[in-house]
Parts: sequence; structure tokens; C-alpha cells
Amino acid sequence: MSNTPEQPAATVTRLRATFRTGRTKPVEWRTGQLRRLREMLTEQGPELAAALHADLGKSRTEAYRTEIDFTVREIDHTLDRLDDWLRPEPAPVPAHLGDDATAWTQYDPLGVVLVIAPWNYPAQLLLSPMVGALAAGNAVVAKPSELAPATSAALARLLPAYLDTDAVAVVEGGVPETTALLAERFDHVFYTGNGAVGRVVMRAAAEHLTPVTLELGGKSPVFVDRDSDLTVVADRLARGKFLNAGQTCVAPDYVLTDPETAAALEPALAAAVEALYGKDPQACEEYGRIVNERHFDRLTALLDSGRTVVGGDTDRTAKYIAPTVLADVDPESPVMREEIFGPVLPILTVSGLDEAIAFINDRDKPLALYVFSESEDTRSRVAAETSSGGLGHGLPLAHLTVSDLPFGGVGESGTGNYHGRYSLETFSHRKAVLHKPLS
Ligand code: NAD
Repeated sequence: MSNTPEQPAATVTRLRATFRTGRTKPVEWRTGQLRRLREMLTEQGPELAAALHADLGKSRTEAYRTEIDFTVREIDHTLDRLDDWLRPEPAPVPAHLGDDATAWTQYDPLGVVLVIAPWNYPAQLLLSPMVGALAAGNAVVAKPSELAPATSAALARLLPAYLDTDAVAVVEGGVPETTALLAERFDHVFYTGNGAVGRVVMRAAAEHLTPVTLELGGKSPVFVDRDSDLTVVADRLARGKFLNAGQTCVAPDYVLTDPETAAALEPALAAAVEALYGKDPQACEEYGRIVNERHFDRLTALLDSGRTVVGGDTDRTAKYIAPTVLADVDPESPVMREEIFGPVLPILTVSGLDEAIAFINDRDKPLALYVFSESEDTRSRVAAETSSGGLGHGLPLAHLTVSDLPFGGVGESGTGNYHGRYSLETFSHRKAVLHKPLS
């Protein structure tokens, strides 16, 4: 046998041939693949956790919580409900078609789909879309991120060992390999990453009229109301922000609050960081590292954007940036010009809710928006007067762990969504069927 890697065109042709045989359509094949994926995660969890540690300094606890067990939960949720979800849904028929006509919708698999994943949760963000793609009965080409090379290599080795290799292929690589893949005709492209590449993906897909899901990022704001218990707020903000060293698409990006609350929130955040990671977070096993030098340099250039409340220490050799909170931050400063995607939390002051809503609406629609307020009126106003992919009251990040909620962005933060039943919808065609008896 030759050792020459298979070309993208050959991979897609091979998977399409499998799809044409109908092998991936029976629900037994789908659930069988999901069970194998679950076995892979439980049996090979330690290897994946070691790869995630090598790529991002992720602790074992964090690797299991946010990647391995997260995906297992998504599989279990799907396995428990797939039969129900796949049941054809009857539709009322208008009188002019007669009493004997019936109508329904059914989910059809799309065919061969491409899943492109980023480096920040490099296992979860490849495998969790795959759960939906397989549950929907598709063949899948999975492209892990080259910026998490240990995880990419582990997945490229493990997935073929567990899954049906005639219907699932892993293609490793960076821009040239992904560009070559995108030249092929897929039936759906599911991309997670930044908006600049999102545009490249959408353009390439347009050539084949292939639908896309774009799971993008951006700046996810936080509004802290003056009545809030700041000890609780600071603890939850710090946990959400500094998980994975801030490299989370729905991490709180910046805080908006009034000047008095800001002044009280500063020491509360400093205390929360110390409670979570100790006096020297670099020595704390639970605290992660920046993915590479390029991102390290980008992030350290943002540290002068305000007065340092806590953190600010860096170590380039270790790709370490301390959990950092900045105060007195100007809206025009560098830290406010891009998605931070690192462990830096700026606090900006506004006069109150009206100004906070205007500030948010003046910018791109966020992937997530968080409100800490005891006032139902405040929460309802933010819900009604802003647009964001998701909205969290009192707890950052958690909405994406609810499998019955769609996860996705709006506008610049993305298009389409997934998780649970929404993944089935993303990776299926909902076919309309009308039946009129012949006699
Ligand atoms: P990345 O650099 O790993 O890129 C993502 C994928 O795109 C990789 O597989 C990469 O190989 C591919 N790619 C890169 N350049 C390409 C090109 N020119 N053509 C084709 N493919 C190309 O990850 P990233 O973009 O740095 O990820 C971080 C961004 O992703 C942040 O903006 C973050 O908010 C966002 N994100 C969003 C979600 C979400 O679920 N909405 C989740 C995680 C990250």
C-alpha cells in the first residue's frame, strides 16, 4: 500500500460513494457511530487530556469538564432522543386537497459534510458538531486545527480507529489543506473560528451553493447593575473569563458598569482571582497557557490599555499571562478594538443601563451577552433592546452547556446554530412530503 496521503478530492469521492450506498442512513448506523465515539472518549480520555495539556496547558479537570465529558453529555443527550427527533412530523392539509390527503416533514441527511474546528477547544469543537452530523446520517470530513497539533494528531489517530472509515475521514493541516478541501463540493460546511476565515469559507461554499454554519466570535459584553452582590458577580466573572486562560469564544470580553460599582468590583475581582488561582497563578495547575507566541505577543500589547487592578505579569517562554483586570479603560483603547480572546478583563464605566445598551448596540452583535442584575426590568430591557447569539443572566458560559438551547451567533458573531436537536436540524434537510392516495 502507498503511504501517499489521500488527496481531498479522493476523500470526498470515497465518502460520497459510501453515502450513496445508503449505509449511513439507518438509525442503527448513526447510534452505532455515536456509541463508538463515546467509547473513544471514555477509553482514550487520558490520551486526549494529555494532548490538550500539551497544546494549551489545560488541566486534566478542565480537559474533562469542557471537552471530553462535555462531548459525552452531548452524545448521551442525542442517543436518548434521536428516535423521537427523527419521527416524521404531520402537517395539517388544506381542505382543497381532500380528506384523504396527508402531509408531513421528515429529516433527510445532507450527504458529505465538512467540519472545520479551531484550536481553543480543539476536541469539543470538532467532535460536538460531528455528533450532530453523524446523528443526522451524514458522511463527515473532520478538519482539526493545526494550531493545537497534539490534539489534532491524537484525533487523526483515534477517530479512524473507532469510527466507520468509509464514512468518516480526518484531514489534518492548515491553510493549504483547508483551501484544497474547500474547493470540493460538500453538502454542508460547518466552520468554527474567526470571521475573516469565515468569509473565506462562505465564499468557497458559495461556488457550490453549499450551505454553511459559521460559529464565530467577537466581543461578548457584561453589564453589572448597581444592585448586584459583587462577591458573587466577581467569582462567576472570574471563573468564566479565566477558564482556558480567556481563550473561550463566549468568555466575558469586557464589563460595563457605573463608576461606583466599578470601584467596588475592582477589589472583588482581585479577591476572586486570588481565591481561584492563588497568589501566583503561574504555579497553579488549574490555570492554562496562551496557545502560541503570536497570540502571546498580541495579548501583551493590550496590557497597557488601562490601570492594572490585578495580574499583568507575563512570561513569554512559558506562554503565561496572569489573569488580569484593567480599570479606567477608554472605549477607543487597543483592548477594545478587537476580541480579546485571552486573560484580560477591562472594566469600562457608563452612566447606567441606557448608556450600556447604546454602547452594545453601537458595536457588532455579540456571540454572548451577560447581565448581572436583581432587577427583572433591567434584564427584560436588555433582552428586548439588544441582539446577541445568546444571553446569560447571572452566569457566563453556562447557556452553551444546555443541550436543549441552540448555540450560535448572529450577524458578525455567526450564522446558524447547533447542539442537541438543533444539530440534527443543521445537518439535515427537512423534506416536505404530500401523500394523496391513488384510489
Ligand atoms: P484557528 O486559527 O484554529 O482557525 C480555525 C480553522 O480555520 C482551523 O481549522 C484552520 O485550519 C482554518 N483556517 C485558518 N485559515 C484558513 C484559511 N485561510 N482558509 C481556510 N481555512 C482556514 O482558530 P481561530 O480562528 O483563531 O479561532 C478563534 C476564533 O474562533 C475566535 O474569534 C473565537 O471567538 C472563535 N470561536 C468561536 C466559537 C463558536 O462556537 N462560535 C468557538 C470557538 C472559537
